[in-house]
Amino acid sequence: MINKDSLMAQEYIKPGGVSGYKVLDFHAHMGNLVNSYMPFGSAEKMLYLMDQSNVRCTLFSGHNDLTMGNRFIHDEIEICKRYPGRFKLYMTVFSRHCDFKKDIALFEANREHFAGFKLHPSYSGIRPDHPLNEPYLEYADIHGLPVLGHTWRGLEEPYENVLKRYKNLKLIGGHCFFDRWDFTARLALSYENFYPELTAVLVKRGALEEMVSVCGSKKILFGCDIPWFSYTYYIGALFSADISDEQRQDILWNNGAALLNMT
Ligand SMILES: [Zn+2]
Repeated sequence: MINKDSLMAQEYIKPGGVSGYKVLDFHAHMGNLVNSYMPFGSAEKMLYLMDQSNVRCTLFSGHNDLTMGNRFIHDEIEICKRYPGRFKLYMTVFSRHCDFKKDIALFEANREHFAGFKLHPSYSGIRPDHPLNEPYLEYADIHGLPVLGHTWRGLEEPYENVLKRYKNLKLIGGHCFFDRWDFTARLALSYENFYPELTAVLVKRGALEEMVSVCGSKKILFGCDIPWFSYTYYIGALFSADISDEQRQDILWNNGAALLNMT
């Protein structure tokens, strides 16, 4: 048996076992990606997977938004309205193609359905610290909003520039600068408003333990990139990690709920 000392792991591996502890997912997408079919990309299929794994709420950005800008974002807002409390939307900052005034008017008119903003420099081709992103980052900073960044190896400097400049927004480091685990954990120690997020990290066994040994568990957030990856695998990997059940609970729910003021 994996993790004999973990009550959470023992419950999970029972036949039909699910995580008895609630989960908050900070990193997901929805819809098909350009011409690719995502078998579990619809809201209903995502909910099916969420219910299987006790995921109470998922924060997502639409694949359409990441690749084409926010022209389909009204559909995603409707999904958040249809399933209250289950989904919250990151407004994608597609830099070159954004209309800040129009975006913020929409954001404010649907405030309860938005978690914050999403930066994806690999799709937009724009560095996080580029002047085109400034109005969104300034707005996020004024309002203390979460900004989920696609952080990958090679993007360390531009993201640290964002942290040097903006002290009040909450920068969520999606993928933890894969595979710069020590750098990510030290960034979390150095900047109060930086939160490592685990999408893709858990496929590398030992990475989480390395980060927890440096920055503890209190700032680490759970994410899965559903529908790309599976909750079952990611939660299983978290239960197999050599950390305490209390630390697992911090990562799965407590840290994120505190960040979003959820109960
Ligand atoms: Zn992603």
